[in-house]
Amino acid sequence: PLILGLESSCDDTAAALLRGREVLSSVVMGQAELHAAFGGVVPEIAARAHAEKLDLAVERALEDAGVTLPQVEAVAVTAGPGLIGGVLSGVMLGKGIAAGLDVPLVGVNHLAGHALTPRLTDDLTYPYLMLLVSGGHCQFLIVRGPQDFSRLGGTIDDAPGEAFDKTARILGLPQPGGPSVEAEAAGGNARRFALPRPLLDRPGCDLSFSGLKTAMLRERDKLVAAQGGLHAQDRADLCAAFQGAVRHVLAEKTRRALALYLEEAPEVPAFAIAGGVAANGAIRSAMESLCAEHGVAFVAPPLRLCTDNAAMIAYAGSELLAAGERHGMDLAARPRWPLDASAAPLVGSGR
Ligand code: ATP
Ligand code: FE
Repeated sequence: PLILGLESSCDDTAAALLRGREVLSSVVMGQAELHAAFGGVVPEIAARAHAEKLDLAVERALEDAGVTLPQVEAVAVTAGPGLIGGVLSGVMLGKGIAAGLDVPLVGVNHLAGHALTPRLTDDLTYPYLMLLVSGGHCQFLIVRGPQDFSRLGGTIDDAPGEAFDKTARILGLPQPGGPSVEAEAAGGNARRFALPRPLLDRPGCDLSFSGLKTAMLRERDKLVAAQGGLHAQDRADLCAAFQGAVRHVLAEKTRRALALYLEEAPEVPAFAIAGGVAANGAIRSAMESLCAEHGVAFVAPPLRLCTDNAAMIAYAGSELLAAGERHGMDLAARPRWPLDASAAPLVGSGR
């Protein structure tokens, strides 16, 4: 069926049209310029912008796909987790369109959208192992079905993308920090600075990145105190050390997650990575060689489908619809919605 997807849980207003696994259109309208002056996403401003722009996003998505609203056969909308004002805007519009057209409505967990994206872009069978690694997330999941996820572990504080961004800020490099730190690291010596390897001494798949950020700050301050500033080589060496530490920690935890996943003896073992940090060449190649070592297929969807978008919501919705899932006008918007509680009923107060 032709599915309309809606996404408005953070600071991107998005609409997409999907038929089967073909993305007919995917419109993402960012709000970066609205929040820039505040140093973070302001919930009230985000909610207002979503309310104002969702209609337009849908209109453009229809136009790009060359279809009209009455042709839409189902509506999939992000019902959480996220900033409640934005989620509500999306859920209300989704209900309105579904009711107006008299077509099925399905509420989608935003994180499930991310976690199912590899099945939109690649022929991946359940169960597969997934690492979501972005500016806001870092978690290992075994994905068994559209509503069946097991979380193996994740960050107990910052996400790695956030740590890349803070490191760039500490060193006076441009934002977003990931690409600038990666570029600097290419000319650096990772061994000059001994940075911590948080949580490696503990069993399990949990991670931590806030200590790394503090260590970076300390090394920078030591250099500034000793020589009055940073030389270009200092910056490169610090970036190389930081990226090396993140890669080491992520690779080691991935090794553990793979071992847990492989215990299930999946028929066609696969590991998928998604999120902005997956764009990092050093981190990606570490994961790729780990997978090769274990005979596990490595999948990394294109970045435009890994960052927030509505095509992933439409796709997750299509799997839920195929599984018989339907939601009514009592579909709730949920600020919090852990993935492993995905099968929980979606009605009533989400709080
Ligand atoms: P969310 O998971 O809530 O959507 P987000 O919108 O911040 O969070 P993404 O857009 O997936 O996440 O990723 C952005 C993050 O990825 C930024 O923190 C950025 O620094 C990081 N990033 C981008 N490119 C690289 C790179 N080459 N190396 C490391 N990190 C990178
Ligand atoms: Fe997201």
